[in-house]
Amino acid sequence: MTKYIFITGGVVSSIGKGITAASIGQILKSRGLKVTIQKHDPYLNVDAGTMSPFQHGEAFITEDGAETDLDLGHYERFIDLNLTRENSVTTGKIYNTVISKERKGEFWGKTVQIIPHVTDEIKASIKRLNKPGQPPLDVIIVEIGGTIGDIEGLPFLEAIRQFRNDIGKENVLYIHVSFFPYIKSAKEIKSKPTQHSIKELRSIGIQPDLLICRAQARLTVSVKDKISLFCDIPKEGIIEAEDVSSIYEMPIILEEQGLGDLIIKMLRLPEQKPDLQEWRKMVYRLYHPDRRVNIAVIGKYIKSKDAYMSINEALVHAGIYHNCRVEIKRIDTDLLCKNDIKRILKGIQGVIIPGGFTTKGVEGKIRAIRYARENQIPFMGICLGMQCGLIEFARNILNLTDANSMEFNPYTSHPIFKQLEELKGITSEKGAMRLGSYACSLTKGTLAYKIYERDQIQERHRHLYGFNNHFLPEFEQAGIIFSGVNLESKIIEIFELTNHPWFIGMQYHPEYKSRPNRPHPMFASFLEAALKQV
Ligand code: GLN
Repeated sequence: MTKYIFITGGVVSSIGKGITAASIGQILKSRGLKVTIQKHDPYLNVDAGTMSPFQHGEAFITEDGAETDLDLGHYERFIDLNLTRENSVTTGKIYNTVISKERKGEFWGKTVQIIPHVTDEIKASIKRLNKPGQPPLDVIIVEIGGTIGDIEGLPFLEAIRQFRNDIGKENVLYIHVSFFPYIKSAKEIKSKPTQHSIKELRSIGIQPDLLICRAQARLTVSVKDKISLFCDIPKEGIIEAEDVSSIYEMPIILEEQGLGDLIIKMLRLPEQKPDLQEWRKMVYRLYHPDRRVNIAVIGKYIKSKDAYMSINEALVHAGIYHNCRVEIKRIDTDLLCKNDIKRILKGIQGVIIPGGFTTKGVEGKIRAIRYARENQIPFMGICLGMQCGLIEFARNILNLTDANSMEFNPYTSHPIFKQLEELKGITSEKGAMRLGSYACSLTKGTLAYKIYERDQIQERHRHLYGFNNHFLPEFEQAGIIFSGVNLESKIIEIFELTNHPWFIGMQYHPEYKSRPNRPHPMFASFLEAALKQV
């Protein structure tokens, strides 16, 4: 029988609920339990694909091509599992389903209402994580996005309240993650905001079983006593989650306070010792680097620290592998259009140009790539970064001065990138994209082949434009090696340069598949090359 853990957040957003959910997933998985994590985002967007990275950070792409909240990236990295579109639920998605059922007459004349129809659909989306014909999961963790008190979160809270009644008290656990501010002048940690948040939860019928405290300083015994008394939570169920230098330490912090055993006991799961040895080793390495390397990540969303989350994490993972600390210098493309590139990239040992859409910042990226190519600085181009890499080459080596992607200039006489054939004719309100996992065949003898050590790889995608194969011979003659291609569609997946320490562009996003204990080979190899420049 599957057990369910529901995680809610109190007082303010951005207190690391996602990391908490992911960490709980990890400490349960380390006990040999089969776990998955689902995110419920109460916004009306059907998925995260249409949201600006300035507001919500990156969209995380799953194997099956869902554009999801970045928390799914944390879940995958912590529990080392590939999630699917079913792990991401939004109000938009729920309403979409309910309304299309209504249009088909599936409610048989009933008045369609938030309770029970919307709440039923929310509950069904949780239960769907168990697949017919497959053994049930041991634990499903559900993180409810937003903060208690948000109007839009109410149907989700109502659904998880009903859930306990539906399947029995002993099968459900509510965990509240809350914030405790420190008032400097009074030298005191304040529990009042959390008390209010829990009061609000209780008014809708949810009594949290455990409380995870994100406090700005250590909680005193008296504060814990007070919370326990006012909020009706046993003292041992009040767990501190202090700020840590790395998110990867969080499972250890929680485990050391007995959270794992407590959850096992409360949910009557089989008792088992956790095996966090590998995880601890990884965190130890992360905290004890013996080298340092400076990597520039150049993009237009740089002002949002979450916009390139998976790339940052992939660099951290590669750093753990190489025992080095990766200093990520985030450079705004606006800066590159006008200023002296040499000065901006001074002291940089590697340049990454991430994915992106629309013209803004493209010319700055192309200038940076030229600098990296001419000055032998390792360069990794991801999706749009790869496209810019080939545009730069076309303009400056092939002398096709107006070479461009049709995304940036539909009238260019040298359309190096054009809209993917396979997407033509697909009309979706949102615009079609090539999303999710696709195969790529690697050519023997190339750097890409050496990095992956195999002929076939699967990587995740999110793009509309692809290399225009009409230009392929011209590029090859000038020294570009097309080392990866999708054999079915002939879409170019990887290009590389040989007369350079490391110059690779990828049409896919390797960052989504990197894990702390298993860095993505492309990032590991890129960092190795960058380290040689130190
Ligand atoms: N805008 C480019 C395309 O659609 C690149 C997309 C991306 O970088 N994710 O092809």
